[in-house]
Amino acid sequence: MTRCVYVNGAYRAYDDALVHAEDRGFQFADAVYEVIEVRDGLLIDETRHMQRLARSLSALMLPSPMSEPAFARVLRETVRRNRVRNGLVYVQVSRGARPRDFLFPPPGTPPTVVCLARAVSRQKGTAKAQNGIRILSQPDIRWQRSDIKTVMLLPASLAKEKAKAEGADDAWFVDGEGNVTEGASSNAWMVDNQGRLITRDLSPALLPGITRQTLMHLLAREGLELVERPFTIAEAQAAREAFVTSATSLVMPVVAIDGKPIGNGAPGLLTLKLRDMFHEVAKASAP
Ligand code: PMP
Repeated sequence: MTRCVYVNGAYRAYDDALVHAEDRGFQFADAVYEVIEVRDGLLIDETRHMQRLARSLSALMLPSPMSEPAFARVLRETVRRNRVRNGLVYVQVSRGARPRDFLFPPPGTPPTVVCLARAVSRQKGTAKAQNGIRILSQPDIRWQRSDIKTVMLLPASLAKEKAKAEGADDAWFVDGEGNVTEGASSNAWMVDNQGRLITRDLSPALLPGITRQTLMHLLAREGLELVERPFTIAEAQAAREAFVTSATSLVMPVVAIDGKPIGNGAPGLLTLKLRDMFHEVAKASAP
């Protein structure tokens, strides 16, 4: 049983060990962790685990929240306070708590650090090893289910941060075949030179956007031709217009992709018209 948990500098009773509702780990899976075996009160392979933690932190551009000796003290103190002789110690670092935004919080936002330890029976492990374990094979879908609106948003957050660093406002994801899947937090559209509206057909590769669905009703009402198929970045760059849809951006014109202007480089006229008409078909619920 875990008695107390280290949370941001304090050792708290298990039930009081709370993290903010707007924590990046909770909302964006923007966090890394390690688990270290505790055996006879000693930390096993601590150096290797802490090196991997440093690598994970650095890969996510997450500044280390404390020095190596400070981490070592927290791990030991957590193990000591929970009186763990044999078991595990768990440490997690997230990018901290901030009002929800895909972009990273400003520099200086304190990371969230959690450390807990619990006893695990060595006898149970040994007994299990006598019998061995059975495996069920499964397709590796980690994570190829972008159709589910999960909080596994770390890739989207990293993509938006990169877009910002390159002077863009948003990111579009491209699959292994060179086709656009969707925006980092929106569905991607183009208007071809015949005036047809093109957006990718639904599959596990993209989120079935509600704004996308409502816009389709508008297109049907206006007698505009819709084609649901994948398209490439090159096609979108050569398109008459491009735009994204989402509940927060509505119908938002795209004026450049990878530095190349779309059409004459100004928001498309059809796109702006669809944006104006969107709420004529969207359903507003009374509060
Ligand atoms: N794709 C992704 C990955 C998104 O995060 C969003 C916004 N939640 C969308 C598409 C658009 O969906 P909706 O129109 O329902 O906001």
